[in-house]
Amino acid sequence: MKDDRFSRTPGLVLRSVQYKEASRILTVLTPEHGKITVTANSAVRKNSKVAPVVQQFAYSDMLLSVSKGMYYLTEGAVIEQFSGLSGELSSVALACYLAQLTESIADEDSVTTDPLRIMLNALFALSEGLYSHAVIKSATELRLIAAAGFMPETACCVRCGSVEVTAFSAELGGGLCGECAVRTADAAALSGSALGAMRHVLSCGLKKLYSFPPDAAEELAPLAENYVLTKCERGFSTLDYYKSL
Ligand SMILES: [Zn+2]
Repeated sequence: MKDDRFSRTPGLVLRSVQYKEASRILTVLTPEHGKITVTANSAVRKNSKVAPVVQQFAYSDMLLSVSKGMYYLTEGAVIEQFSGLSGELSSVALACYLAQLTESIADEDSVTTDPLRIMLNALFALSEGLYSHAVIKSATELRLIAAAGFMPETACCVRCGSVEVTAFSAELGGGLCGECAVRTADAAALSGSALGAMRHVLSCGLKKLYSFPPDAAEELAPLAENYVLTKCERGFSTLDYYKSL
């Protein structure tokens, strides 16, 4: 018989906040429960076995006890720590922003695993230093915001349906033809290579998410960021910090 007082799940720590002296309140992304809040009592006390599990960006196999709808960390074993991240401040800062973005778009009790898989992909790429920040940031932002239900229209002009797309509007949520771009206040130029990169990022398998030209990413980066901020209708302190570096 399934014991409902306990739940075993993989989980990625998006945020870890100190609570009392040696405890932590975690925001954890899981495949089965979506985004959950987990209390980790005495987690960083001396000789604690779960101390590595409560670190931000740790991806672990967690045993949670469930009481009155609250989750408590009972045991845990780290699956992946992304230790390569610690070497470079700007990579950590970008990971913090992507984690905050993921936290803001992920739903509680949602069964979709997309945000978790996208974020694990990003942490691996940042940790290994495999791609430029512009590539990782723009592709992760676009894929996350699409997973949240804001898939931009890239096949045709959002205003008239023309297949000639030469600009992008964050407000209207997609591409624009030259004629409609002139009549759109927030239209930003979009080259053929940046449009191709955007289409690739929004449709490819996650393993190929970052496989597009870095020069297209340089152009895509401000568009993707502006699109995310427009659709989220908020700013991110972690993004401000990343950009200040
Ligand atoms: Zn048009």
